[in-house]
Amino acid sequence: MQNRRDFLKKASLLLAGGLVTPQLLTSCGGKTGSATAEVAEQATTAAKNIGLQLFSLRDYVGKEGIQKTLELVAKMGYKNMESANYNEGKIYDLAPEDFKKRVEDLGMKFVSAHVGQPYSKEKDAEIMAWWDKAIETHQKAGTKFLIQPWMPVDDKTTLDDLKQYCDYYSAVGAKAKAAGIIFGYHNHNFEFKKIEDKLIYDFLLDNVDKDVVKFEMDVYWVQKGGADPIAYLKNRPDQFKAIHIKDETEIGASGEINFEAIFNQMYANGINDWFVEVERYTNNDPVASVQQSFDYLNKASFVK
Ligand code: MG
Repeated sequence: MQNRRDFLKKASLLLAGGLVTPQLLTSCGGKTGSATAEVAEQATTAAKNIGLQLFSLRDYVGKEGIQKTLELVAKMGYKNMESANYNEGKIYDLAPEDFKKRVEDLGMKFVSAHVGQPYSKEKDAEIMAWWDKAIETHQKAGTKFLIQPWMPVDDKTTLDDLKQYCDYYSAVGAKAKAAGIIFGYHNHNFEFKKIEDKLIYDFLLDNVDKDVVKFEMDVYWVQKGGADPIAYLKNRPDQFKAIHIKDETEIGASGEINFEAIFNQMYANGINDWFVEVERYTNNDPVASVQQSFDYLNKASFVK
């Protein structure tokens, strides 16, 4: 069984500094007190449709548990959740109905889930049975999206291999669609390399069944890959249905990503499902970084 974390480990994409514990906010603007207390003091008045990929707080989840994590992000003001933990019919070790209820009891919505499996022809039946269970589980949780967060690509990968993945995604997408769920693929930057003169990302976009496979664009990784997220959104409006709002560390901190232009194009495309993802933290404090990202977007006039 693979979850997103296993995928990322395998891909060696987890950057240094991932395993940290929440700590005092002593280095953050002179504030004192625990991050949790700091957050708890803030009123939940935000009305903006701000989502969070819970992977951003993976270590907090590990330490404090999912219930405390959900309470924390609800207090911050986040509205929409994207999960990053699925195993054998359980979401964060909870029955799907239970997870859904916990999210909704806090005034939030469980919109999207990162789940996935690498593919091999030999294990086709086993892998598709795995998806049947994953789809059934997330149907019970009422999720709109099921997103495969990663795929194995290396120097030996051929276009035939990619085509096999496109067919795999199309098969999973058809199953998901039949269950009322949108299946999608989430990119990193390795998709912006070429195989036999074809950009991997373009090959995927061109060769999946466009009716049943959509894409969750991680704007940071698109830009890291040397491509323009806005151009992709403009050129393929029907293929992108969800977005990862991500930066080098906290959202807006690098100044290198034009989030205003990205949001304008997202809204022009009619995309309202997007999730903040923070993977690296300036002060090794995931809670502070996730709060800082919320504050940046909540104050930004270009975010609805
Ligand atoms: Mg992402």
